[in-house]
Amino acid sequence: MKGTGPGSAARTDAWRQDGQLKLRETPMIFMYHGVADTGDDPNQLCVSPGRFAEQMAWLARRGLRGVGIATLVEAMRAGRQRGLVGLTFDDGYTNVLETALPVLRRHGFGASAYIISDRLGGTNEWDEGPTWQLMTGDQVRELAAAGIEIGSHAATHMRLAGVGPAKLAAEVSESRASLTALLGTEIRGFAYPYGSMDAAARRAVRDAGYEYACAVEASLPEMGLMALPRIYVGQQDDAMRMAAKRLLYRSRIALRSRPGAGPSQAPAAETR
Ligand SMILES: [Zn+2]
Repeated sequence: MKGTGPGSAARTDAWRQDGQLKLRETPMIFMYHGVADTGDDPNQLCVSPGRFAEQMAWLARRGLRGVGIATLVEAMRAGRQRGLVGLTFDDGYTNVLETALPVLRRHGFGASAYIISDRLGGTNEWDEGPTWQLMTGDQVRELAAAGIEIGSHAATHMRLAGVGPAKLAAEVSESRASLTALLGTEIRGFAYPYGSMDAAARRAVRDAGYEYACAVEASLPEMGLMALPRIYVGQQDDAMRMAAKRLLYRSRIALRSRPGAGPSQAPAAETR
């Protein structure tokens, strides 16, 4: 905490708790899964390489910089997150290493990839639909060496809301331990599979030693370092839709936080 001053330290501590991240302090975070050309993608998990390159170029043209979430959180603590956009890739598909990484590098962007610790080298068998390859341990190490932050996406990719304490601990703590062993570095971030979380899940993530966690459709009372909201970005998001997403980012969060707004109506693709 040296050099950050008492004000920012207090703010950091406040962010740890639910409901403490103010709407105006909320950074924009994009959620991706895979980057690949695919004709068959009913769950809309992939953006094509061309579209992804266009979206990254769109950020760069607007003077925005894509960063991983640990970097973003550090910038938030220092009050310097302006102009930064969090980029995240869930599940750990091999095409993130092969296809997304070269585009990110071209722009000097960072990102975070959330890995399912018990499924290294496997596939997305939890999904109905097309099968994609997940990175092996060596490939995850390669991605980390290229400067991409590696975080945990739990051990097996199960929904964590409503799960008992023993199973929660296994999914959250053991995945952190095994990724730490794989990379030899501390794992700072977590992303809830399907965006599924409740207060017990957020507490388990904090207790396991993670510094922050990415949700999907978090509402204002849930928002904090253990529930950073993200927005789905997909194949249909051209420059005009990207501009609209940016413009409406905070209004969307405010809208779904209204009393009686009910559970989010997000399509399946937005919560995988
Ligand atoms: Zn996932």
